[in-house]
Amino acid sequence: MISLSTPVQEVPKIGITYAKRLKKFGIKTVQDLLFYFPARYDDFSEIISIRQARNKLGEVACVQGEIIEIETTKSIYGRMAITKAVLQDRTAQIHVIWFNQPYLEKSLKENDFICLAGKISLGKEGLYFNSPAYERINEIGENEELTHTGRIVPVYSETRGVTSRWLRYVIKPLLYRFCEQIQESLPAEIIKKYKFLPIQEAVWQLHFPDSFEHADAAKARFSFEDLFLIQLNVLKEKIRLMQKKSSACPMNTDLMKQFTESLPFKLTDSQKKCAFAILKDLEKTVPMSRLLEGDVGSGKTVVATMAALNVVKRDHQVAFMAPTEILAKQHFRTVTESLKSFNIKIGMMTGKDARIFKEDETTEVSKKSFLGDLENGQLDIVIGTHSLIQKGVEFKDLALVILDEQHRFGVEQRDHLIKNPDGKVPMKSRTREEIGAVEDPRYNRDKKLVPHLLSMTATPIPRTLALTVYGDLDLSLIDEMPKNRKKVKTIIVEPSQRKQAYEFIKKEVAGGKGVFVIFPKIESSVTKLKELLEKNGPTVGSFVPQNYPSASLRAGDLRSFVPTASQSGILDGFAIGTINEVKALKEEYEKLSKEVFPDLRITMLHGKMKPAEKERIMLDFKKGEIDILLSTSVVEVGVDVPRATIMMIEGAERFGLSQLHQFRGRVGRSDMQSYCFLFTTDPSMLNRKRLKALVESNNGFELAEKDLEIRGPGSLYGTQQWGIPDMAMQGLSNIFLVEKTRTAAKEILEKDPTLKNYPALRERLKEFEKKIHFE
Ligand code: ADP
Ligand code: MG
Repeated sequence: MISLSTPVQEVPKIGITYAKRLKKFGIKTVQDLLFYFPARYDDFSEIISIRQARNKLGEVACVQGEIIEIETTKSIYGRMAITKAVLQDRTAQIHVIWFNQPYLEKSLKENDFICLAGKISLGKEGLYFNSPAYERINEIGENEELTHTGRIVPVYSETRGVTSRWLRYVIKPLLYRFCEQIQESLPAEIIKKYKFLPIQEAVWQLHFPDSFEHADAAKARFSFEDLFLIQLNVLKEKIRLMQKKSSACPMNTDLMKQFTESLPFKLTDSQKKCAFAILKDLEKTVPMSRLLEGDVGSGKTVVATMAALNVVKRDHQVAFMAPTEILAKQHFRTVTESLKSFNIKIGMMTGKDARIFKEDETTEVSKKSFLGDLENGQLDIVIGTHSLIQKGVEFKDLALVILDEQHRFGVEQRDHLIKNPDGKVPMKSRTREEIGAVEDPRYNRDKKLVPHLLSMTATPIPRTLALTVYGDLDLSLIDEMPKNRKKVKTIIVEPSQRKQAYEFIKKEVAGGKGVFVIFPKIESSVTKLKELLEKNGPTVGSFVPQNYPSASLRAGDLRSFVPTASQSGILDGFAIGTINEVKALKEEYEKLSKEVFPDLRITMLHGKMKPAEKERIMLDFKKGEIDILLSTSVVEVGVDVPRATIMMIEGAERFGLSQLHQFRGRVGRSDMQSYCFLFTTDPSMLNRKRLKALVESNNGFELAEKDLEIRGPGSLYGTQQWGIPDMAMQGLSNIFLVEKTRTAAKEILEKDPTLKNYPALRERLKEFEKKIHFE
């Protein structure tokens, strides 16, 4: 007996060969297949007479008639089959031509009645239907049971050997047999409240809609349902997290005052507000999960430093992670400098280096002794890259994790933060169970401690997304810049103005300023691979049984909200540098140092260099011993060199808006007027539009919105990375829908945290979580 849960290969029309192909879409069971929804529809719903069709040259039309002639021949040169027919109804006749469909010879015969839908073209023999869709009917005028023509016809995303026509042919009879058995998964009160179509009707209408209104209504239901599931998942995790305990670190007001007074500047009101919110969070035993968002240069580091200081002075440890070595080293310097009068032991660990700062002195140490100190609690703050979360790194009492530029961390790395490959976590007392292997949040009352988490990013997250994938994080926003800042002047430099730009640079350098020149990555197999990965987001067309990319949402974990390395661009510069790239950079270097700026001190920086070399260069640049730093995108995030006032970007069209904004954020970090020069070789309108958006706005949020407008919701920060189902993604641009689903999820969970009264919903949620956890 076939049922909804029967594997598709057991369905007679499908069999093993097709089952294998369907697996590519993640379709395993009959139910999966019924939930494989069309990507779009062809509107063949109006059936007209052949006479009327003869007035529709170049248009798509649908007619019914009798085949009065049909013949299949081979093309002259190739082996292509050409089937020609003449169709007739009471009003007229018309030719039909199909290319390369040899089986038509057998399936269609003279005197057959058929329904046709397709484009009308003009050929040597007059008007004809060009390779139309067709299906047999018993008589003209029959239009009840049409599948491929004479209706709104579903078009699915296809794969080799699986056509839309075939899908329609297998799905329709299965719908007749099993649609009624599909269990309603949305709670009855929600269906009633929002007047949604019941699931069975919605599934039917999505495949074979009676009208576009019906299809839209069905889509609305499933958009809601997907977002609702995401919300349930996130809120459940939030509840789970709230059951855990962290070390409470009461705020030491005097200490904070002492710290802020020791700074060479005054905190902005925004910084104060955010610091306060964080310090208040840290006072609680409920684990903090806060995202500190602030545009480039808004001064997030100092806010994080305050939190770290407060925690350390309550005798706990702090881990401060940055996505690149350059940034980790910079943070080490900044933090040691700003905390030097507070008698704190600060360590730094990157790929090869381990350093310790105490009693006003930095010393290099072996990794082994460093790790020992960490484990014994001899170190208060450790700053580093993801090497902090590798095997063998253990803390004595880690109470706060700070993740800078959190969007740049890979999922894998973030995972390590909470569990090492052997299942251990970098804090001795935690076991796997505590990380979330426990089924039911309300009954998981473990007593051990988890660290507070402070994530930081300059990448603005649209509100809809903040409420969904970031739904379990609290948000703090630094929404003002330090007072002394001047707006960076951004200029698109035409090729004819290049000389002028160079002259300007010479003048600035003469005045003691620093200049960044960013050189874009050269096409290489690695970048190609990366692009591929990026493109392979959710497959278009359906939202249920998909092969989610391995970068999918892991909404479950406390720290899950970071995209994969490949997708977040962490491969840029550091991890990967290609020979080509270095070669091209060297050529540019030769040109700049010999021809353009022979009198200036120019240095190259790229991902292939040794860490120590990179560090020395950054320091020299900071100190003013280098005038122009010619670099790949390694300086994109976080780098802070206040004396730099010019950011010159070659091939600007190759970077995304947010990335360009990040580059620009490397200058304008002092009270000096700064400039961003955009050079482009591609004058296409779209690129122009993007670059102009950058010229017009200095605000990361506005730019993110612009990006959304120009590139559509698919570009929404995070959506690709998390493999958010397609329909949910469409819903994501709708803040009302997002809020609705969030409220609905809250209401349900408050009433019934384990969803025991909603077995079908619980089941869907489970499946959904399995899918997004990709394990
Ligand atoms: P981001 O938010 O991009 O991480 P940083 O924390 O690197 O920014 O700060 C950028 C620069 O601004 C640093 O040189 C920092 O010392 C300085 N800074 C931070 N806060 C202030 C402030 N309130 N007034 C003046 N300068 C500030
Ligand atoms: Mg920063």
